[in-house]
Amino acid sequence: MVVYRISCDEGHSFEGWYASAEAFEREAGAGHLECPVCGTSSVRKHPAAPYVHTASAPAPATDADRQGLERLKTYILANTENVGREFPEVARRIHYGEEKSRGIRGQVTRAEAEALKEEGVPAWSVPPGMKLADEVH
Ligand SMILES: [Zn+2]
Repeated sequence: MVVYRISCDEGHSFEGWYASAEAFEREAGAGHLECPVCGTSSVRKHPAAPYVHTASAPAPATDADRQGLERLKTYILANTENVGREFPEVARRIHYGEEKSRGIRGQVTRAEAEALKEEGVPAWSVPPGMKLADEVH
């Protein structure tokens, strides 16, 4: 898994989550990568900045932001496997090459998120308010 901070020509920035650097290049090269805010495919990536955190982020303020979140959510649902509470273990196995590289989503506690971060396992926190349909509680 790799996480990229991506920005478009309009200056919107967002995060993309890919199985591998190659997977990102394929998406971008095929023009499938779009800004979730304005829809342009004129985007570029910045150095990978993987992180996990459970702190709250500012709520989306505008309709455009909310639409962007919807598109991001659709993307996540279509491109990741829900591993629920197994997330920390599966993320580690993928990170250490013990499992096939792929996008996953799931839940972590604050302590687990900190541990993954310390180990350098790339992951990404879903913005508060983005409810994934098959979320495990
Ligand atoms: Zn944009």
